[in-house]
Amino acid sequence: MKSIHHLIDGVAAPSTSGNTTPVFNPATGKQSAELDLASIEEVDAAVASAQAAFEDWSVTSIARRTKLMFNFRNLIAENAEEIAALLTAEHGKVLSDSAGEIARGIENIEYACSIAEDLRGAYNESASSGVDVYTVRKPLGVVAGITPFNFPMMVPLWMIPNAIAAGNTFVLKPSERDPSAPLRMAEFFQEAGFPPGVLNVVQGDKVAVDRLLEHPDVKAASFVGSTPIAKYVQERATAHSKRVQALGGAKNHMVVLPDADIGLAADSAVSAAYGSAGERCMAISVVAAVGDVAEPLIEAIKERMAKLTIGDGTDPTSEMGPLITRESRDRVAGYLASSVDQGATVVVDGRDQQFEGDGYFIGVSLIDNVTTDMDCYRDEIFGPVLCVVRCDSYQDGVDLIKNNQWGNGAAIFTQNGGAARKFQDDADAGMVGINVPVPVPVGYHSFGGWKDSLFGDTTMYGPEGVRFYTKAKVVTSRWPDPATSQVDLGFPTNN
Ligand code: NAD
Repeated sequence: MKSIHHLIDGVAAPSTSGNTTPVFNPATGKQSAELDLASIEEVDAAVASAQAAFEDWSVTSIARRTKLMFNFRNLIAENAEEIAALLTAEHGKVLSDSAGEIARGIENIEYACSIAEDLRGAYNESASSGVDVYTVRKPLGVVAGITPFNFPMMVPLWMIPNAIAAGNTFVLKPSERDPSAPLRMAEFFQEAGFPPGVLNVVQGDKVAVDRLLEHPDVKAASFVGSTPIAKYVQERATAHSKRVQALGGAKNHMVVLPDADIGLAADSAVSAAYGSAGERCMAISVVAAVGDVAEPLIEAIKERMAKLTIGDGTDPTSEMGPLITRESRDRVAGYLASSVDQGATVVVDGRDQQFEGDGYFIGVSLIDNVTTDMDCYRDEIFGPVLCVVRCDSYQDGVDLIKNNQWGNGAAIFTQNGGAARKFQDDADAGMVGINVPVPVPVGYHSFGGWKDSLFGDTTMYGPEGVRFYTKAKVVTSRWPDPATSQVDLGFPTNN
């Protein structure tokens, strides 16, 4: 059985704690590896390595940091196929989706290759007589990243490139469900020429997370995962005086107006709801169908659902793979049962589709006549289930979004420019799509939701990401003639 270890100080570090957990292939239900779980001492060793590396790394030239980041980018691109296979084997998503995740991660490395732009300070000459003032941005020190199962490569790459290019050193705690791809990524990072200790990986669970959040040498924590844990991470990290950004769950709405192109809206809803088995924080989980668009839209969605191929992610004909665990699959099935009990109409029931073997598969589902008090609407299902809420007006759709607990993404489908322009203002969410169902920002903008989708002050990657990983220092400088020096207890008036 394959063993998966930590990577500390540039080398593989098998755990001595004796605590391990199994890793499964969701397509077969079979165990594929045994994963080490870090003890407090092992987390401390990773932080100590990062702390030691910080001294030199933080003063390494931007030119050198950028060059290494280019090497890293190229190694990930050249080895994308190998990494995609690791992703699919432990996450279950289809290979093309794994390749897409890596490509979006690479965008963030490319952004960090231009870190000089974001680290450029501001300079004012002669702010006062003979006095110049300038602001520079300094790295924080050791920073930690705690990441979820659904994007085991891309989400660490939302954090690591900017943090490290800005001069910080990093300890990553990947999800324990699919740890192989991020570990391989860290090996390529070493191969790119970065000094040992600049990036460390500790495998682990709550023990490792809690230690990272309280360790005095960890200056900031970036978290992505479910809302309850995001809230917990934010509270615990701030209680230990750390900077924190904690991205949580989501329930993303797609408002479809009566004038929308039905074919385009249906294609988009199906892609955004069932891609990666709905295990995307930007997946569309609710269609707010306005007026008489509901009937034709549901028909068009149903038609497309019937053509989807679900199977092992390594099979090139599969469009959707299994869920991450047996519990996730059963949880999704539970929402279908409760929807029926609570009065919704299950138009397509994923439980009806049979699959061979012990993989964690379930078919795609469509639930109509959903109301906001139903469990399938109130909770983040995180599976291939699309709910339709029928709305009388545009305003009803906007109000749904406003009254929802989460505010990650929201989309509108319409051919009316005025309605779209109004929606971009009205939608109570951090990322808005206009005829775009999954509006994940490109690497040179920043990613983050509102309300219970993000706890903390700054969003992730892009310019906001660099701000999160740096602190400002303002220098006031004067080169007077010492001969004119005198004691002056007055407060400068700048006259
Ligand atoms: P999760 O919250 O269960 O786990 C995330 C990380 O937290 C993992 O590394 C895990 O080991 C750790 N963790 C879990 N329980 C913990 C505890 N009690 N104490 C300390 N640490 C703990 O999330 P997940 O199931 O891996 O990922 C799916 C969730 O992530 C969904 O809710 C999804 O919406 C969300 N997500 C959000 C975004 C976003 O950008 N907002 C992006 C991706 C995923």
